[in-house]
Amino acid sequence: MVSRSCNGEGSAYDPQTRHIELRYDDSAEDHDLFQNAGRHPAGNEVAAVATETLYHESRHALIDLLDLSLTNRQEEDAADQFAALMLLRTGPTGEQQLRTAAEAYELSAAANSNSDTSGRDEHSPNLARAANHLCYLHCSVPTRNPDLATTSRLPSQRATRCAQEWTQVRTVWIARLQPLLRKQ
Ligand SMILES: [Zn+2]
Repeated sequence: MVSRSCNGEGSAYDPQTRHIELRYDDSAEDHDLFQNAGRHPAGNEVAAVATETLYHESRHALIDLLDLSLTNRQEEDAADQFAALMLLRTGPTGEQQLRTAAEAYELSAAANSNSDTSGRDEHSPNLARAANHLCYLHCSVPTRNPDLATTSRLPSQRATRCAQEWTQVRTVWIARLQPLLRKQ
């Protein structure tokens, strides 16, 4: 993993060097995003989003190593699912970080409501990425996140399907990871 300041390209996995590059400028932008939403200081929020990004990019690295053939959009959604899986397994701290990452997607969508180009590249639109994270959070630990089912952040129709979706996401990922898991 390499952290650096670079213009243009955002955080990414480079299959040539097999490096995950985290872009400092992303953190500065996330800091502004949360501070503009009234969060002072926004250090925990920035750390949460960076952690989610690191897991997301780690998934791209694993997909490369496992040689999985997925379309670009499928790979991006799978990387988001992996980030959710990794954060949720760490308990309340990871749950909060996942919630914060979802909020970053929502804030980003709101800040760019007139010129939101998310969804035009290989990633799903920001609001869809937020709803996916909230869906996984809601069904994996509903007792600590009861509010999610009663806000428009997670449409009620979607909320009823979350448990099934989450089970499928977990099952698929655990199966895909099998070749890399060390036998005990
Ligand atoms: Zn990605």
